[in-house]
This record gives sequence, structure tokens and C-alpha cells, in this order.
Amino acid sequence: MKIQLLPSTFDENGSASPLQHLTCFIIDDCVAIDAGSLAMAASNNQRSQIRDVVLTHAHLDHIAGLPLFIDDLFSTLDAPVFVHATKEVIEALEQNIFNWTIYPRFCELENMNGTVMKYQPFEIGKEFSVKHLRLRSISVNHRVPTVGFIISDGKTTFAISGDTAEVDGFWQILNSEENLSALLIECAFPNELVELADASHHLTPLGLKRELSKFNRKKCSVYVINIKPMYREAVIQQIEELEIENLQILKVGNVYEW
Ligand SMILES: [Zn+2]
Repeated sequence: MKIQLLPSTFDENGSASPLQHLTCFIIDDCVAIDAGSLAMAASNNQRSQIRDVVLTHAHLDHIAGLPLFIDDLFSTLDAPVFVHATKEVIEALEQNIFNWTIYPRFCELENMNGTVMKYQPFEIGKEFSVKHLRLRSISVNHRVPTVGFIISDGKTTFAISGDTAEVDGFWQILNSEENLSALLIECAFPNELVELADASHHLTPLGLKRELSKFNRKKCSVYVINIKPMYREAVIQQIEELEIENLQILKVGNVYEW
């Protein structure tokens, strides 16, 4: 299974910057997990293949690229873009984004071939299929309804936390998973901003260490994601000082294969 965190911004030479402002993971060039930079940074190959977008939650940094992605493809789509999300996230998108004020209500629009966008609600805890993948959503602890996922292609399985603060059920489910190859977990703020992290339901490096102590890790590689760009250096330094074994920072734009 191949996974890539799409870039959010570019430096003066046009190369991807290591900063992660937005969240959008592409699996095997055909399924998007979150859509933060989907319209802005997907390759032409990915753009032509991705017709399934799976959302963790409705925060802007995770959905910003979704309206633009459908807009860019509108006249060329011969099948709808499926948006897989919980009922709460779909309601938030319909009320606040696809409401004819911020952007068109694409689920009501058709091109020559039919509907351009369709919602596929999933229930928390139940498995569902997207293309060749099996996904199971797990409720996590954020300011809005948010899920993480366990994702498998039948050979490889990995987990992603979504945006979250302290959790317990998430770890119980991950610990019961036999062959987890990788875990992607957030760490947004440095330790000195623990109050802001608590108020916005995110992790600091110390919080990350506490959370990972609940994880029966076996041989699983752990990658840190969703570091706020402004605090990136401080967060990385504090994570390194914790000397957590088998942990690295996920590199923007890199293609990982597990
Ligand atoms: Zn969030």
C-alpha cells in the first residue's frame, strides 16, 4: 500500500515545502483521506483516478480542497465523487460549505453524465469498503465529531488518528489489531502551549508520549503528522528529546510504501 501526504505550500523554487498547513493523504493514487490540499496538490494521475474522499472531520484544514476539486473536475466527471463521512460531518458540510453561499451545493448538480458528488455516510465502528480498501472508523477526542481510521488493503494495515486529544477507546481497538504496519498520529502544539492544545483538543509532545504509552506497539512504525507550521521546529525538537523508539516525522510529499 502506498500513502502520500500531499504538500500544502510551495517554496520560491516551486518545490513542496515541509510545512503541513492542510491535511490530505492519498492511498494508492486513488483514495483520498481528508481533502485539505486535494485540489491544489494532487498529480494529474491522482486527479484522474480519485473519485473517493474519506473525511475524518469537517475542519477547514481537512476539507478546503474538496469544493475546488469537484469544481475542477465538474464537466469531465463520468461518475460522481463519493464523499465518505459520518452523518455529523455531512451535515456540517451541507450547512457551512456546500450551501450556495460559500460554494454550490454540488450534490444537487449534474453534468452531462449525471450527479457529480454523492455522500456515502458511514457509521462509527462499522467496517466499510472504499475501492480496494477496508476501513473502520474509530471515534477520537476533538472539538467537533472526529474519527480516526484503521485501513487495510488485505495485505497491509495501518491506522491514522485524525485530530485528537487524549483517548482510550482508540488504543484499545488498535491494541487488538494483529498486524499494524504503521500508525500516523497528530502532535499539533509544543509543550508550552498545552493550554491551547487542551482547549482545541490536540496533542503536545508530552501528550503524545502519554498516549503512546497506552499503545502495545509490537513492530509498528509511528509517524507524527499535523504539526502546526508555526511551531514545527519546537515540536520536532521536543519530540526528539523524548527519545521515543521507532518514531519519525512523516515527510510531506514523500511516498511511503508499507
Ligand atoms: Zn481539527
